[in-house]
Amino acid sequence: AEELLRNSDRLAVTGQLAAGLAHEIRNPLTALKGFIQLLQSQQQANKAYYPIMLTELERINFIVNEFLLLSRPRPANFREADLRIVIEHVVTLLETQAILNKVHLVFEQPLPIPPIRCDENQMKQVFINILKNAIEAMPHGGEVTIRAAKAGDRLLVRIADQGGGIPDELIQQVGQPFFTTKETGTGLGLMICHNIMENHEGKLKIRSVPNEGTTVELELPFSPSAGSGTY
Ligand code: ADP
Ligand code: MG
Repeated sequence: AEELLRNSDRLAVTGQLAAGLAHEIRNPLTALKGFIQLLQSQQQANKAYYPIMLTELERINFIVNEFLLLSRPRPANFREADLRIVIEHVVTLLETQAILNKVHLVFEQPLPIPPIRCDENQMKQVFINILKNAIEAMPHGGEVTIRAAKAGDRLLVRIADQGGGIPDELIQQVGQPFFTTKETGTGLGLMICHNIMENHEGKLKIRSVPNEGTTVELELPFSPSAGSGTY
């Protein structure tokens, strides 16, 4: 019965997503159609249209790519991984973007993290999405700290920024498909994160204080082989 419920939930989400996707793509498509009609009706091609058309095409491409990530089959590649290395990798990946935005990414990890059974690429995706949001939340720069801690048989990773935070009236909508407050956002990032965390029997929680910052908390079970060490 539980699985049935899950399947029907999944169907509902898929329908919602498809409707959202259609809506998101219709705008740039309508713009492109308009430009092509304009070009068709003119003797001389107006070159100024081309960069705008390319931007619209890139937007469609971006939305479809993000969307495809969601529809990929469940991960087959669950392995024991060292999350410290995964996070370090992502921090390195985003360092340039961070520096350009005067953001300092700080990964404070004094202890090794016991192994976590996960799909490494999906975990990277989660950290990329969350860190990107943190960087984007601080247009004038600031610090993002990443810290891991143990809570019983689960790992907690907190990613805290010093951005503008999320207004109380919007916090419920954050993570819903296509909810974005950004001009060029897709509103799919956190939804993908929630999905991946669910596949890992983990959780994602967001706490935010307007004008102070946002903390995303990830919770993941330790691999059974991790034992009950001192971490
Ligand atoms: P996108 O980044 O494309 O907008 P996300 O799903 O990643 O989509 O985020 C949805 C929305 O949640 C953002 O548009 C923003 O309003 C809010 N949000 C997410 N992370 C943060 C953060 N660290 N600080 C402030 N707002 C955030
Ligand atoms: Mg995002």
